[in-house]
Amino acid sequence: MGLRRVARMGPIDTHAHLSDLGDEVVARARAAGLSGIVAVSASVPTCEGTIKLARQHPGFVHVALGIHPTEFFDQDLETVLGFIRENAPGCVAVGEIGLDYWHRLVRKDGAQKERQREFYVTQLQLARELDLPVSIHSRGAWGDCLRLASEHGPGRGVFHWYSGPLDVLAGVLDLGYYVSCTPALEGSPELRAAMERAPLERILVETDSPVWIKSQGRASEPADVLLTLRHLADLKGLPLGDVEAATTGNAETLFKLRSARWPGSSWGTGGGLSSAL
Ligand SMILES: [Zn+2]
Repeated sequence: MGLRRVARMGPIDTHAHLSDLGDEVVARARAAGLSGIVAVSASVPTCEGTIKLARQHPGFVHVALGIHPTEFFDQDLETVLGFIRENAPGCVAVGEIGLDYWHRLVRKDGAQKERQREFYVTQLQLARELDLPVSIHSRGAWGDCLRLASEHGPGRGVFHWYSGPLDVLAGVLDLGYYVSCTPALEGSPELRAAMERAPLERILVETDSPVWIKSQGRASEPADVLLTLRHLADLKGLPLGDVEAATTGNAETLFKLRSARWPGSSWGTGGGLSSAL
């Protein structure tokens, strides 16, 4: 029952597709000084992979469950909702969810666009019901993502890798949401403009790994959140330590990481997870 102060934490990668990367990148993230990873999911199989990694790394790998806007095509919505609801204890967020109007199947077929919206709205409503924040993908659909989050969402979350228009960014910040940046901050004018405008107290850092880092010609991994931090400190003209402390605090606040029920201690005693895996 501690009033004891907890030691300052290292950086947190707030958005990584860890189930696509595996175990060894977790060791490298620890070695690089990170204090945690929010592992997002994209489909039911990747949700399962994420949970498995969180069980192996309790207190370090934090779980976000959700269906990605480019992965919903072969998913059954009711199954997905049941899965997320059943495995919600121990989760820190619902994600990655959202809309992607640049996806080729959605561009071609209006019915798919409607279905994408249905997945997004339903998962927003579920996050509200579960009182969990959301991690939102909004590529090419920034205005609609904001409008629907404001109508149906849980009132807290992050517009991840936000490279959209600045007027929508203002709405995102007004709604109380965070925005995040990746190592692409080095070369993306849209991402730079958004991060220049957003106040540091509303910015999270991430990698979206294993997304390719163009400037380095390789896939990213969570330890690369140190690159994101360096680019953000340069952009803001602030000391690296200040940017690290602020963004880590933001991640702890949004995802309630200090009070989260760590999978290692609270899961695996029966209930949904054991039946799901
Ligand atoms: Zn992602």
